[in-house]
Amino acid sequence: MTRDLQIGYTSPSFLIPQKVKFRYRLDGHDRDWQDAGTRREAFYTELGPGKYRFRVIACNSSGVWNEQGATLDFVIAPAYWQTKWFRAMCVVAFLALVYGAYRFRVRQLRRQEKKLRDVVETIPTFAWTALPDGAVDFVNHHWVEYTGLSREKTMGSGWEAAVHPADLPRYVERRGASVASGEPFEHEVRFRRAADAEYRWFLSRVVPLRDSGGKIVKWYGISTDIEDRKRAENERERLRQLEADLAHVNRVSTLGEMAASLEHEIKQPIAAAITSANSCIEWLAHEPPNLDRARAAASKIDKYGNRAAEIIDRIRSFYKKSPPQRELVDVNGIIQEILTLLDGEATRSSVAVRTELAADLPEIMADRVQLQQVFMNLMLNAIEAMTDAGGEFTVKSELQDGQLQFSVSDTGVGLPTEKMDQIFSAFFTTKPQGSGMGLALSRSIGESHGGRLWATSNDGRGATFHFTLPIQATESSPLVA
Ligand code: ADP
Repeated sequence: MTRDLQIGYTSPSFLIPQKVKFRYRLDGHDRDWQDAGTRREAFYTELGPGKYRFRVIACNSSGVWNEQGATLDFVIAPAYWQTKWFRAMCVVAFLALVYGAYRFRVRQLRRQEKKLRDVVETIPTFAWTALPDGAVDFVNHHWVEYTGLSREKTMGSGWEAAVHPADLPRYVERRGASVASGEPFEHEVRFRRAADAEYRWFLSRVVPLRDSGGKIVKWYGISTDIEDRKRAENERERLRQLEADLAHVNRVSTLGEMAASLEHEIKQPIAAAITSANSCIEWLAHEPPNLDRARAAASKIDKYGNRAAEIIDRIRSFYKKSPPQRELVDVNGIIQEILTLLDGEATRSSVAVRTELAADLPEIMADRVQLQQVFMNLMLNAIEAMTDAGGEFTVKSELQDGQLQFSVSDTGVGLPTEKMDQIFSAFFTTKPQGSGMGLALSRSIGESHGGRLWATSNDGRGATFHFTLPIQATESSPLVA
């Protein structure tokens, strides 16, 4: 294939060759005649394919042009890339390439879609989508398998058939409110399992997908099986209730143990009030009535009456089955109250009571009734450990390392040596009438307040129980009511 061309020519007149001039022209390429002078060659480069006619004329020495000249016809064949079929092939190949790329992309997207679909279909959770008005338009395979409702039956609001009738109104209401407000929502609801007709708890979560203008285009939801967690929660709640009931029973039985001493506690101010009332009557019956003394006797009646009422109030706080509540309490005050209640019991068991309470202990956020119970348990235990031989118990309080520290120390029988670690276990007791609940409950009360309760054996005789409470209230909720 030629692109560069050289054409040689000459004149038949050889007389004076130097005087012969030429002009040539390539039709199809040159517009005008080219003056070649005496040159006998014409050069062409980059000739495109096609038919050409080369014409050359000469003039003699006198300047007369021979108009006839000579011609040369030739054809330059196109290069293969210049042929039509080649160009057509290129277009075809390009289209094929585009189509191939398109098919490849489609396949790739299909594969990706399948992968995503497989994930959505097989995740062990219900996945679904709904239209902006809340009507369900897609559910995954797990839903169909679990509920036994076909996709068609589930669409729109068909899914409601699988919801527990007791949960349905509230769930529909919450879902409707969420669709109306455009807010995501979360709700616990029971769905019926087709296999055994059992309802299990699910946590449903729904979020909206919005377009760039903020308009909701779709709702996406998942519902996860939380039955096991729910069961554990119920079990915990049941245990908590049981513990609370036991705590109450324990409190009441503790009170039963104290009945004798309390009888004495209450009878004493009442007897004193009666005596004062009698003397008041006598002073009034006097001739003339001694009003000053009668007034003094009457104010004593008032004092003793109030004292009896106070004791009854305190006892009542032990009976009351009130929910746990935190308030600012003065723990030294609580210790004093319990000591007052146990005074008679201690005297009867020949137990002397000593207190070393730090002044200015800060008040802390705590449950008053629960702390009363802890100190009541510790002090009653101390007295009981000394019932046979008598002795002395000391209650201490101090502020140390940012927490309140208490100890109840006795000179009694001492902790059961081989079972030291068991005394805080529920139902562990070495007493014939014991419940074994006192220390277990006291420890859980301490922990629920962020504190600790433990025991040590004294060097000489008896045992010491240590109890700490943080000054800052903790977040943990009380375990015991
Ligand atoms: P209970 O008093 O009904 O037996 P507790 O849980 O209060 O139940 O106590 C469990 C056990 O711990 C008691 O039976 C006793 O053996 C032991 N214990 C508790 N306090 C003392 C103490 N101060 N001295 C010796 N042993 C004690």
